[in-house]
Amino acid sequence: MTRDFSQRSQIIVQSEIRNMTLECNRVGGINLAQGVCDTDTPREVIEGAHRAALEGINAYTRYDGLPVLRQAIAKKFRDLNRLEVDPEGEVVCSAGATGAFYCTCLALLDPGDEVLVLEPYYGYHVNTILAVGAVPVFVRLEPPDWSLDVEGIAAVLTPRTKAIVVNTPSNPSGKVFDRDELRVLADLAVDHDLFIISDEIYEYFVYDERRHLSPLSFDEARDRVVVISGYSKTFSITGWRIGYAVCDRRWARMIGYMNDLVYVCAPAPLQVGVAKGIEGLGEDFYRHLCAQYQAKREVLVKGLREGGLLPFVPQGSYYVLADVSAVPGRDSKEKALAILRHCGVASVPGSAFYRSDGRELVRFCFAKRDEVLKEASARLSKLSW
Ligand code: PLP
Repeated sequence: MTRDFSQRSQIIVQSEIRNMTLECNRVGGINLAQGVCDTDTPREVIEGAHRAALEGINAYTRYDGLPVLRQAIAKKFRDLNRLEVDPEGEVVCSAGATGAFYCTCLALLDPGDEVLVLEPYYGYHVNTILAVGAVPVFVRLEPPDWSLDVEGIAAVLTPRTKAIVVNTPSNPSGKVFDRDELRVLADLAVDHDLFIISDEIYEYFVYDERRHLSPLSFDEARDRVVVISGYSKTFSITGWRIGYAVCDRRWARMIGYMNDLVYVCAPAPLQVGVAKGIEGLGEDFYRHLCAQYQAKREVLVKGLREGGLLPFVPQGSYYVLADVSAVPGRDSKEKALAILRHCGVASVPGSAFYRSDGRELVRFCFAKRDEVLKEASARLSKLSW
């Protein structure tokens, strides 16, 4: 026996985002690499949490969260997604969507199970799958539409395939899967007895009159879909760590037990704050949020176009992948560094979202205050190669 790290430690890839952030800080640049929204948190949310803490809601909660939050999430599903979800048994509140995803993987995946992941992917999904010993199997989606590649999926299915991860709206591509695509996916999951793990954390960030649809909406797949989401983005509370998994009670119980094991519970007064936000904020809030981010998208897209970095205009979420073939550099990392050096705007190399190459892509995040985003866009627009 040698004293060394676990095998799992050696396969987890460190995020490029952290490196770019360090590099950005070194040159005093504008950081459009990190997906941290610095828009205001609604008062209802902050006051709700504050009051809860003062009123003594500071102890451990039940393993799946406080009733007030589970009920609020069920109400959200009813109002927005037109889906009935039982707050007593089908909702597990966790430490962010990240915690919910990890607990789901712990509960459903065995070492060696194969999990289909659509490229470009969100790195945490892949690292979490690896961390539980499962095997990510990649299916590449192509710009500009990032359409679901059904034949590509069918080609990589094996008897070991246990689940497919979807992220709609997607980080980093901004893809919002439509009804037809999700139906195909649901049918495929039924035919091959797969779970669909659906990360919907950007469900409120959809543009151009599009509507978010969850795979949970398909009756035939209802008992095999686990929706993962949370309020980090919607309420700008990335540091609060409030997220959830919603699925059939059969799976939810074990996901909840895993949540107990790893986190015990999500932060108690913050659960109340989020519940107050869900209860108190009406459609206007979400409509405004959407309009605000769509306007931010336009600002960034314009700057990118003028600077010769060709954006794939996202349908949702708050990231833009841009084709940076014109930028000098051997790979997407060198290209992202060249952009940072030339105009002081940090992005994430495309390699962070692909298993082997990053293509000619980098990702910019537009969840920034307007004045910061405008300055970044102005700088990008002056680029020439
Ligand atoms: N899922 C996706 C697709 C994300 O992009 C992010 C954050 O960037 C998360 C989950 C993290 O969510 P949370 O803060 O709730 O853990």
